[in-house]
Amino acid sequence: MKTITYSLPNEGKNSENYYKDVALFTDAVLEEADKSIEQIAEDFQFFLIRNKSKELRSRSEYIFELLTLGVFLRVYETNANSLSLIPQKILSNLVYLRKNYTWLKPFIDPLRGVLSTYFLSGKSKSASTRLQVGVEKVKSLVLWLDAAGEFKQEVIRLKPWINYFSSLPVDNAINQIFESIKFAKWFENKSLAVLGKYTEKVEFFLEYKHHDYKWDEDYIFCGRKRVEYHLNMVGAEIMNRAWFDEYSKTKKKAVLLPACMRAKSKLRCKAFFNGIDYSCSYCTASCRVNQFTKYGEAHGFGVFMIPHSTDFTKWLKRRAGDKDTGIIGVTCALNLMTGGWEAKSLGIPINCILLDYCGCKNHWDKKGFPTDINITELNRKLKLKSSDELVINNS
Ligand code: SF4
Repeated sequence: MKTITYSLPNEGKNSENYYKDVALFTDAVLEEADKSIEQIAEDFQFFLIRNKSKELRSRSEYIFELLTLGVFLRVYETNANSLSLIPQKILSNLVYLRKNYTWLKPFIDPLRGVLSTYFLSGKSKSASTRLQVGVEKVKSLVLWLDAAGEFKQEVIRLKPWINYFSSLPVDNAINQIFESIKFAKWFENKSLAVLGKYTEKVEFFLEYKHHDYKWDEDYIFCGRKRVEYHLNMVGAEIMNRAWFDEYSKTKKKAVLLPACMRAKSKLRCKAFFNGIDYSCSYCTASCRVNQFTKYGEAHGFGVFMIPHSTDFTKWLKRRAGDKDTGIIGVTCALNLMTGGWEAKSLGIPINCILLDYCGCKNHWDKKGFPTDINITELNRKLKLKSSDELVINNS
């Protein structure tokens, strides 16, 4: 395995130290939030109650949304302020068409690649940056995120915050948005100190490799900053804790593995495809999908291989509202929050596990190499005894 951006084992035997670090750091983040932005999260919660919001979540989830807002404002505010209305509309419509008419993808993706690189990177020579203040800053950011197409769930989560800030006196809204940015700055510094050892290669990738993605559809996705990896890592921990009770009460469990975990290429893999997910046909003993599928057969949980994030959406939609099956979603750090929030919005009990590293052919490596997860973390989610780990050697 080679490290392209992040690595949870970080040259160690496995990623157990990462799971300890991220749990402790998440405690520290929530403790710091208590001292700074907790009141804002609470006020937002009351605002939703007053406005009869359909779905209320835990305080820690709102704290995470506010942290997300602060981090994104720090990372993308300049880009957002230089995006004008017409390219924003064109890009958002392309995202909509791509999602709803998947057969158009081969035509839309090259166009999105060019337009995203030109208009979303904030580097276009014709771009003039408007200074935005208060809630306008947040509106501008959400429009940019929507046009980028990589932040669908984040857009859904951040829109109610626009309504909330708009309901406040202007000065108060400005102060609260400023607090979220201040908290995000604290998070960026602290997360670098604690989680930075797992994401060291992101800087190298952004400096020396990311320019190869210029004009490609995944230019924005692959250009995500180191703090965004840390944000997703902490977000996964916060959401897993908040959602664990509901998930653990389910009668059945299903593990969704990404296709980048298989040992063979798409052409040589013999898995059976039913239009949405693959079932392994055990062609290669060393293949992790094969091993996890057999592990599932022995311990009573299902394993499904999902080829792409759009198929993940289709898979979830077929099970919308199913409270009997607890899903363990496995994905790379950058896709994790989107996948978790998507399942949650469909009423599906879920917990997530990060891939130990990324290596898929779609985004990160010309040939692609098989990815992996921490079996001990999977056992914890499935409440299996540690002796069961002997079935699969994760070293
Ligand atoms: S073992 Fe299964 S998932 Fe792995 S390459 Fe073969 S058919 Fe595909």
